[in-house]
Amino acid sequence: MQHEVDFLIIGAGMAGEAAAQAIRGARPEATVAILGAEADPPYDRPPLSKALWKDAAEESIWKPIEQARATLELGRRATALDRSAHVVTDDRGDRWRYGRLLLATGGTPRTLPFGDGFIYFRTFADYRRLREAARPGARIAVIGGGFIGSEIAAALTFAGCRTTMLFPEPSIGARAYPAALAASVTDYYRDKGVEVRAGVTATGSRVAGNETELTLSDGSTLTADAVVAGLGILPNIELARAAGLDLDLGGIVVDDHLRSSDPDIWAAGDVATFPAPALGRHLRVEHENAAVTTGRLAGLNMAGQATAYAELPFFYSDLFDLGYEAVGILDARLETVEQWVTPYREGVVYYLEGGRVRGVLLWNTWGQVDAARALIAAPGPFDAASVRGRLPAEG
Ligand SMILES: Cc1cc2nc3c(=O)[nH]c(=O)nc-3n(C[C@H](O)[C@H](O)[C@H](O)COP(=O)(O)OP(=O)(O)OC[C@H]3O[C@@H](n4cnc5c(N)ncnc54)[C@H](O)[C@@H]3O)c2cc1C
Repeated sequence: MQHEVDFLIIGAGMAGEAAAQAIRGARPEATVAILGAEADPPYDRPPLSKALWKDAAEESIWKPIEQARATLELGRRATALDRSAHVVTDDRGDRWRYGRLLLATGGTPRTLPFGDGFIYFRTFADYRRLREAARPGARIAVIGGGFIGSEIAAALTFAGCRTTMLFPEPSIGARAYPAALAASVTDYYRDKGVEVRAGVTATGSRVAGNETELTLSDGSTLTADAVVAGLGILPNIELARAAGLDLDLGGIVVDDHLRSSDPDIWAAGDVATFPAPALGRHLRVEHENAAVTTGRLAGLNMAGQATAYAELPFFYSDLFDLGYEAVGILDARLETVEQWVTPYREGVVYYLEGGRVRGVLLWNTWGQVDAARALIAAPGPFDAASVRGRLPAEG
């Protein structure tokens, strides 16, 4: 079947939905179509590892996609992109001729070379599977000590599961937080009842009846009723690569208007590599705020606006009763300056590089995101002494 639309969006995720709403707002009469590989319509992903395990209802996650009055084709994957013909082909053989195209394809979880039945946590369908397994008392192994692994481990413990986390780093969040903070978070998880096995990886697995036996790198084994993994994602760039678009940092390179190396194709969300002038580099960001803001702006620019993207990456996380917001780059390899009101419970961490502030972690400190953005944009130079106290640690 042949379709013809003004605007075609590949990916019915957070960026794709934001783009569709923006296009509709700017161009009430335009034809817009969205192809989404998942069976579910667009939804908020962050609650899958947070609010849905507390008191939020599943209905709360759905995006109001009907307001975009777009043709929404779910369970449909775009399989080929012919740039010269302006045609995308999907996995049912339908051909979609577009005027302008947005690639908002997000990422696919990294997997292990073994692990039948592991839940690689990314989608609402993954959430439903894990929820099914997460009966009180169930033994659940969580592989990965980054954002997803640590949030899922907290959620499962909250649900009454016997949770074991394992990861190769020395502590939870070791790649993002300064070492002492990461160690403190790890102790905190242990206090909350999570068995934390730091410094080990899973090397194999065997299913026996309803159980999975994991083999670990320290020679031990771990038996679990379910295994969930958060090992990061691989951006879905196959279409872009096959079509010859410019790629970098694992994503599709866009300019400050979120336009790719093809003038009729934009990219947004986890899959886009965009310039961040305040940080003096290109970034590819895997966070909600970037997905929504790049999606919205790409949609507006596709609809005829010409606005440059100037947001700095912002994100947040909840770890049991601890919570934080962060702006910029959180990389524990940078110089970190810690400013605590209460050590590891409330404070600010600054990430410095070359005399500039590159990132700010607001640990149980609220209302400082805009001030953190301004600090990162400031020319400096800053060092440990001059940056300390720049942001109030109490929000
Ligand atoms: C459990 C979880 C918790 C998170 N928590 C936070 C948080 O607390 N804070 C935060 O800032 N960020 C969080 N994130 C990250 C955030 O959700 C992502 O950055 C955001 O969803 C990215 O949006 P996106 O639209 O780029 O990609 P996605 O939301 O992944 O959407 C992409 C969609 O495109 C589809 N697709 C891919 N290829 C094709 C194709 N060829 N044809 C058709 N469809 C295709 C995919 O199936 C997917 O549905 C979390 C992520 C997860 C998984």
